[in-house]
Amino acid sequence: MQTAEPAPSYALRPPKRIGGTLCLDFINTEMWRGDVPDRRERLTSYGELALWAGHVGILDRAEVRRLVQEAERRPKVAAAALATALGLRGAIDRIFTARDAIAPADLATVNALLARAPTRIGLVPTKAGFAWATSPAEALEQPIWPVLWDAAELLISGRADRVGSCSDPDCAWVFLDTSRNHSRRWCSMEDCGNRHKARRHYERSREAG
Ligand SMILES: [Zn+2]
Repeated sequence: MQTAEPAPSYALRPPKRIGGTLCLDFINTEMWRGDVPDRRERLTSYGELALWAGHVGILDRAEVRRLVQEAERRPKVAAAALATALGLRGAIDRIFTARDAIAPADLATVNALLARAPTRIGLVPTKAGFAWATSPAEALEQPIWPVLWDAAELLISGRADRVGSCSDPDCAWVFLDTSRNHSRRWCSMEDCGNRHKARRHYERSREAG
């Protein structure tokens, strides 16, 4: 007899990487970001953060396992690292979506983390290519730094005005719009784009009927 499978957690499904850059993919760990009553949170525990970092290539599989075990040994430090990660996510989300009206508190959050981020001292080859080698740092905070650096680099690059969001107001996932005319509307055509098209078709056929 087969036992019932547990309902899949979000972490069991790899995240959709529609952001076009790491820091925007990190913002999209919150799903249905619009004005809806039930935003869905992927990062409900430190383990989910470590798994996400594995999915996007910040950590390799062995590192994910190591950090998950470490988090079980040091739950308080892990909870603090998760809170730091979520605080960073909120700050960069507001910075990229506010554009001109950036709250000083959000910039202060980013700057405080930049000030205590480990120093990048070299490159190490990984399966996927290369990763930064850094000065010694709190292992449980490892998933945070590449996101932070990516956000800072995007802000400095002058391309932050290319950050767009899905035209489905309930979805509101963010992405780097690399289309020539800033014309990207959907997080993904297969998902929100098609849903919109189907809805339009339904409305038109109803009007025609
Ligand atoms: Zn969408």
